[in-house]
Amino acid sequence: MPAKGVHNNKDQLKAHYDTVVVGGGIQGAGCAQALAARGFSVLLIEKSNVGTSTSSRSSKLIHGGLRYLETYQFSLVRKSIAERSTLQDIAPTLVKSRKFYLPVYKKQRLKRWQLAIGLFLYSALGGFKSEARFNRIPKSKWSQLDGIKQQGLVDVFQYWDGQTDDLLLTEAVIHSAVSLGCDVMEETSFTQATLGSNQQVHVEAEHAQKAFKKSCKMIINAAGPWVDRIQSAIDFSPQGPAIDLVQGSHIEYDAPLGEDIFYVESPDDQRAVFIMPWQGGVLVGTTEKQHQGDPANCRAGEDEIAYLKKTLFHYFPDYQGQYVKAWAGLRVLPKTEHLGHQSGLKSLTRPFSKQARDTILFEDNPRQPRAIGLYGGKLTAYRVTAKLVADLAEKTLGPAPIKADTASIPLSSPTKAM
Ligand SMILES: Cc1cc2nc3c(=O)[nH]c(=O)nc-3n(C[C@H](O)[C@H](O)[C@H](O)COP(=O)(O)OP(=O)(O)OC[C@H]3O[C@@H](n4cnc5c(N)ncnc54)[C@H](O)[C@@H]3O)c2cc1C
Repeated sequence: MPAKGVHNNKDQLKAHYDTVVVGGGIQGAGCAQALAARGFSVLLIEKSNVGTSTSSRSSKLIHGGLRYLETYQFSLVRKSIAERSTLQDIAPTLVKSRKFYLPVYKKQRLKRWQLAIGLFLYSALGGFKSEARFNRIPKSKWSQLDGIKQQGLVDVFQYWDGQTDDLLLTEAVIHSAVSLGCDVMEETSFTQATLGSNQQVHVEAEHAQKAFKKSCKMIINAAGPWVDRIQSAIDFSPQGPAIDLVQGSHIEYDAPLGEDIFYVESPDDQRAVFIMPWQGGVLVGTTEKQHQGDPANCRAGEDEIAYLKKTLFHYFPDYQGQYVKAWAGLRVLPKTEHLGHQSGLKSLTRPFSKQARDTILFEDNPRQPRAIGLYGGKLTAYRVTAKLVADLAEKTLGPAPIKADTASIPLSSPTKAM
């Protein structure tokens, strides 16, 4: 079903746009909204339905990313914390503030002092505001923490971050873009782009098995895990950075544990795993496993499901919920040299955890881009990325009469609340 406000009739489209955005995940939606808010005409095309790829298969956290402090990604953490606050203001029905518990056990990778330093830094990067504060939970209260394993527990920290429904958030951003004048076509596949002699970009796409063409001044490639495939179909732009596609899986259970989120270490390899409330049950994730081949063929593996189940019952041995399903999404990570291209979770996890999680923007021509590719990035920081893209677009499109600032446009789901 099309997202509300989206029309699927190509005959209603204009012949020419300032920009065409390829991909209706959160990044494409954010770019479309930011560009439309600056007064540019925008067409967004999505080969499936808005938000149904990676942007509905994330851990659904609107967070600074406490664990990125381990890899010194301070700038990403700072901007993500600031975005958490902006999104809580503009989308209060879509971004909920949640208590996060960090239990510390005798035998675990991150020691109590390391976590305390990390939380202090997290709080400092959040400007020591009330929502950036953290606490130690007194021992007398540990038994009230949703049944978490008490054996070996030596400390419990609590801090705050956000949780969203990523699909509803993406739909809300699209809805906002549409209300700012953006045209959106779902079930429409981009096929190729060429540059004409007049510096116009000619975009070819297919809808209902019929090819059609549009022209624009600039194309934005926000195709998530398909980014490099789309990049190679933009014939005037060089290929962008090499990437790893890293699969992350989640499992769902049907009964609730409580209202809070637990940030634990997997008993197998000490990776961070979140145990979260989700739609009346529990969501556990995630894994990290290299994906090869077509991004459409990404499925949670039996090894990943077993790994996540083991983590849940290791920490909540008396939990009575029933397993419902598992699903997977693909992170786009700029390639770095790493060990362990063999198989199995253990050999693959650490190196990927160290790869940068920020978005890389790749332009064909930095002075006057005609094609901008978005590589990687976080759901949380989509608005900041979109602003950078809109700033770059102005180099080619020139300044336009600004209609609205996305930091103050209210977002709500056109269909339901979280
Ligand atoms: C397991 C996992 C957990 C995560 N957890 C978090 C988290 O908790 N918090 C957070 O902030 N971030 C998280 N992230 C990151 C976040 O989910 C992603 O950064 C974000 O969803 C990527 O959005 P996107 O728009 O780039 O990609 P997508 O959502 O994949 O959108 C790309 C779109 O392009 C479309 N497309 C592809 N080819 C074409 C074509 N030829 N024509 C037209 N359309 C095309 C696809 O159909 C797709 O809808 C997580 C990521 C993963 C994988």
